[in-house]
Amino acid sequence: MPPTIRENILRIQDRIAKAKQNSPHPTDVTLIAVSKTHPPESICEAYEAGLRHFGENRVQEWEGKRPQLEDLQATWHLIGHLQSNKSARAAKAFDSVDSVDDFALAQRLDHARTELSATEKLRVLIEVRVENEATKTGAEVHTVPQLLEKISQLKNLEVAGLMCIPPFLEDPEKVRPYFQRLRKLRDDLAGTTGLPLPVLSMGMSHDFEIAIQEGATEVRIGTAIFGTRPNP
Ligand SMILES: *Cc1c(COP(=O)(O)O)cnc(C)c1O
Repeated sequence: MPPTIRENILRIQDRIAKAKQNSPHPTDVTLIAVSKTHPPESICEAYEAGLRHFGENRVQEWEGKRPQLEDLQATWHLIGHLQSNKSARAAKAFDSVDSVDDFALAQRLDHARTELSATEKLRVLIEVRVENEATKTGAEVHTVPQLLEKISQLKNLEVAGLMCIPPFLEDPEKVRPYFQRLRKLRDDLAGTTGLPLPVLSMGMSHDFEIAIQEGATEVRIGTAIFGTRPNP
């Protein structure tokens, strides 16, 4: 018998606690269960095991599952790349968009939130491209200060911090420099802008312990909770 979702969650919570003990940057860590490709039943199981944060990477997929999950008091994060023509729907369906990487997109989310007359600001994270490959999503490091400055002036958005998806490397120790880069950028920006930027969303199933040692406040974990995903 493979372990249940609840067993996986307990094991991960234990590993998170240990990683925090070994961190020179001790901080609270929120576990975001990445439920993309998995059915609403699996989300319910994770919810019953105590999780309250979930990450999906596609607007349409989440809209399909949401009606079955209306009763859950959870925070729903969009963690995948958002196409601008879906931004209005994203602003409605999610509590947080963790993958904002350009200003036009931020403006669209802000505008959509105004139209909805939402009382709460939409939380956003700026996704930073921590490696140099042009094919990857995320804002380039040198553009982030200006992007942050502009987004932080939008009335209906609240920039809580930064997010990154580093390269997948077999040896998670080799991912450490990317996490360090994101933390340093956050620290620099908090210093220069005076914005608190408390959130660092980094670390996935195979490297979250390293991310926590480098100051992650949110880890996004799919496979280690729900099992392997079907190939797209
Ligand atoms: C799928 C995904 C994750 C989770 O990845 P796992 O390796 O399954 O833990 C985290 N973050 C983002 C942005 C993802 O798309």
